[in-house]
Amino acid sequence: MLATVIHAARDIRVEEVPDPVLSTGADAIVRVVAACVCGSDLWPYRGVTPTHGPHRIGHEFVGVVEEIGPEVREVKPGDFVIAPFYVCDGTCANCRNGVSTSCLTGGWWGSDDHFGGFADAGQGERVRVPLADGTLAVVPGPVGDDEIPGLLTLSDVMGTGHHAAVSAGVGPGDSVAVVGDGAVGLCAVIAAKRLGATTIIAMSRHPQRQALAREFGATHVVEERGDAGIARVQELTGGIGADRVLECVGTKESMDQALRSTRPGGMVGYVGVPNGGAELPIRSLFGRNVGVNGGVAPVRGYIEELLPDVRSGAIQPGRVFDLELPLREAPEAYAAMDERRAIKVLLRP
Ligand SMILES: [Zn+2]
Repeated sequence: MLATVIHAARDIRVEEVPDPVLSTGADAIVRVVAACVCGSDLWPYRGVTPTHGPHRIGHEFVGVVEEIGPEVREVKPGDFVIAPFYVCDGTCANCRNGVSTSCLTGGWWGSDDHFGGFADAGQGERVRVPLADGTLAVVPGPVGDDEIPGLLTLSDVMGTGHHAAVSAGVGPGDSVAVVGDGAVGLCAVIAAKRLGATTIIAMSRHPQRQALAREFGATHVVEERGDAGIARVQELTGGIGADRVLECVGTKESMDQALRSTRPGGMVGYVGVPNGGAELPIRSLFGRNVGVNGGVAPVRGYIEELLPDVRSGAIQPGRVFDLELPLREAPEAYAAMDERRAIKVLLRP
């Protein structure tokens, strides 16, 4: 089958790789219907995180179950399924506590699983899914082609934006500032509105992303950054800063922006993968009673809650995909996202 392999920074290839086979009784083989490129895939693409030899890449996909092992109970061949960006059993203590990203038998796409078999990455034609019952979420009934982008966002970006909002404690009537205008930041705008925020400030300098943020529920757009950006957020929130700030980038600058845009007593929800030396200034947080909560989003646990709103069209996170390419053009998908010509690229095998 064909799958995407990263060889080095800016060297993405679509290559022939071995077909996956069932290796434990709890596995499923899924035929990928759609996959996509994540903002975090750009870290190795840009060489920010090193690539030591060629390896498979991609961790967001939806597809149809083709085969299951004898122990699988919750999914069956023919089911349309959403895979979160990680493997989890759904039954261990961490999964039961809602932190399935810390699953005791979990793992990551494109690497060996807990039991030593290889779990394919998402940007390919097929994937061996370990712990299929815990990992996969079944989408009931027939799935229309136009539903696929929205369903695919439940694999990562919509659940991650939701996690930022939940971690920050967004509730009815809140003022919320969102730092980051990538797919996760835009989904965080959707999540903030869905949870009842009434003032939603999108921090973005990109006209097309600003427009989408407004359509998703942003009431204000702030283009300024640094001190000027903080001053604008304060102006829009009665001079004090936002109740809740959702940090969706992960850089030192974006975390600083988020922490200083939060009002005294407010909370930052952070979901951007921390790169580039982001650290918490405890003394400043202490002085202003600003809290910080969040981390790698346990999106598997959010799929059931968000799925009905995605299917009904009440929220439309699938609109973050502004480019669709065949899988064999994955190198162009990475380039388009790297150069910010596309917000998020959907790949069809
Ligand atoms: Zn678990």
